[in-house]
Amino acid sequence: MSYFVFEDLVNATQIKIHRQGCGNIGDNSTETTKWHECSNLEEAKSKSQELANQYGKGWKMAECCLS
Ligand SMILES: [Zn+2]
Repeated sequence: MSYFVFEDLVNATQIKIHRQGCGNIGDNSTETTKWHECSNLEEAKSKSQELANQYGKGWKMAECCLS
C-alpha cells in the first residue's frame, strides 16, 4: 500500500502521513502544499522525519488514517 506524506509549505504545520485512498489526500500539490507519495510505511516515516527536521516540527499519522 502506498502512503502519502503531507507537507505544508507555508504554515509548516505538523507533517502528516495518510494512507492511499484517504479522502483527505489532495489530487494535486498546490503552491503551498505538497504530497509526497511513498511506496511503503517505512519510506513514508523516513520522509516525514526528514521534513520534520527541516521545519523543526513533529510528524504523525493523520487522525483519519489511524484506524
Ligand atoms: Zn487520511
